[in-house]
Amino acid sequence: MSTDCIFCKIIKGDIPTKKIYEDDDFIVFHDIKPMSKVHFLIVPKLHIETLKDCTETHQSLLGKALMLAPKLAESQGLLGFKTLINTGREGGQEVFHIHVHVFGGH
Ligand code: 5GP
Ligand code: ZN
Repeated sequence: MSTDCIFCKIIKGDIPTKKIYEDDDFIVFHDIKPMSKVHFLIVPKLHIETLKDCTETHQSLLGKALMLAPKLAESQGLLGFKTLINTGREGGQEVFHIHVHVFGGH
């Protein structure tokens, strides 16, 4: 939990969002500025800033994040989808709380 992190605030329930899934480890919600017909974010509840900060202890969490993508894409009516993880400012990352983008319905 980081007090000035927008995704931690969403996880805490302090900022409303269009949530599509939640469990003990993840929250998944629609992107506020969708770049395709369907665009949602898979966000671990653990505050990790970037993919570069992941260690072996995060392997299972990262695997679970990817495993959620097809299940939730299907629940959104997608037959196929794209995934993206931006890493670092130079990698186009704007929110420094790791997340997987899922795009579909092009
Ligand atoms: P990044 O560039 O870090 O990979 O992507 C961050 C994403 O978070 C952007 O696509 C942006 O539109 C989305 N985003 C930023 N703030 C909010 C918010 O308050 N609510 C939601 N639902 N999405 C957000
Ligand atoms: Zn955070």
